Amino acid sequence: MVSPDPRRLIPGTDTLLARPHIRDASAGLSPHVLRHIITQTQQRARQGRLAPDQVETEVLSRLVSYRPSTMRRVVNATGVVVHTNLGRAPLSEGAREAVAEAAGYVDVEIDLNTGRRSGRGGGARRALLAACPQAEDALIVNNGAAALALAAAALVGTNEVVISRGELVEIGAGFRLPELIESTGARLRETGTTNRTHLSDYVSALSRQPSEPVAAVLKVHPSNYRIAGFTSSVNVRELAALCKHHGVPLIVDAGSGLLNPDPTLPEEPDLTSALADGADLVIASGDKLLGGPQAGLLLGSASIIARLAKHPLARAVRTDKLTLAALEGTLNGGQTPVEAALHIDPDTLLARAQRMAEALSAEVVPHEGRVGGGGGTEVPLPGWAVRLPEEAAAPLRAVHPAILTRISDSSCLLDLRCVPEAEDDAVLSAVEGVLRALRDPTEELSK
Ligand SMILES: *Cc1c(COP(=O)(O)O)cnc(C)c1O
Repeated sequence: MVSPDPRRLIPGTDTLLARPHIRDASAGLSPHVLRHIITQTQQRARQGRLAPDQVETEVLSRLVSYRPSTMRRVVNATGVVVHTNLGRAPLSEGAREAVAEAAGYVDVEIDLNTGRRSGRGGGARRALLAACPQAEDALIVNNGAAALALAAAALVGTNEVVISRGELVEIGAGFRLPELIESTGARLRETGTTNRTHLSDYVSALSRQPSEPVAAVLKVHPSNYRIAGFTSSVNVRELAALCKHHGVPLIVDAGSGLLNPDPTLPEEPDLTSALADGADLVIASGDKLLGGPQAGLLLGSASIIARLAKHPLARAVRTDKLTLAALEGTLNGGQTPVEAALHIDPDTLLARAQRMAEALSAEVVPHEGRVGGGGGTEVPLPGWAVRLPEEAAAPLRAVHPAILTRISDSSCLLDLRCVPEAEDDAVLSAVEGVLRALRDPTEELSK
């Protein structure tokens, strides 16, 4: 007698689809996801990697644990506050609430009093102006790069824009500001040198017999690098006076979106000061030091904002309702997680690290946090970290939520600066689990 091919015992797709508990578990899923999970599981059984009578249970368990988005929550234990690879700024409670409210139909472009169409996202714009009263008006676009491109397109066109050679910077990997500006059709009139640009350089750039007229002067904050030593640059106030004299607007790309001066970051430009010093237009990102969603903020004189809003490109870089909600929630809500992480008291950090280290029989070491992609280049943020064996880093990334640490000097450093204190216990028990599994690999399997 020949024993039947076990593969014939694998339940068919229609059989599985007809099972009530499979139908229940897949209620919120798209049919193609459901079919994919079923075919994959059947395939594993065909290859002998799963017993045919396990197929149904396996499909069910995969359906139950299925998450509609592949993006996974990460606990940022790196000590880098504005971490570009982790989505820059985590949203505040106020911003999260606003996003949840705006997820459905929302009055983003209608006045519910009159029932008429209204300006888009007026609440976020008003919140921005309230937070930065130096500005006459504001416009919100998709990100800082979009804001800069719009400003170049609308204010410079195919004319020239004056910029110091010390400010022709590459911001992120492959994102070169001068290339972005030129891609809009604007042409750069470079002035000064890499390390030193004087007021007289701007004077001669503006007075040079123009083949084409100069339409604006742009000052860029070189967010991610510093030139030290024999350097000089011209401040916003001096440049603004010169621009006024020549009748051209001064655009300041401040980068990080700090609303007001912050003594922790003495070199970081802020929007209020730049406007008070006479900039006609200030540009910044929403998700760096402002601690909000990805957005490009344009603040300045009413006439310039009106020119930007009228330009066709404004429609192409328009923000969605979720961004507008998150930005308004950030500005009107309490302290942002970015602000909290930047200003956390090192002693508090030490006490939290010590408590965790004691429970783990680990040691606490000094560890400097970083501002990160948002600015504050080279500003050290004194703090502490729990030192774990380097082998812990990979399994910590595999738990849910993932825990991202910093690997340095053959250690895995767990810095609590950017971890909300309320999550300390959850992080501790995840680390305990990982360390236990490292000491005794069978433990993980028997769990
Ligand atoms: C970050 C930055 C940008 C780009 O802003 P995104 O929001 O990342 O598009 C432009 N200019 C400066 C000075 C920056 O620091």
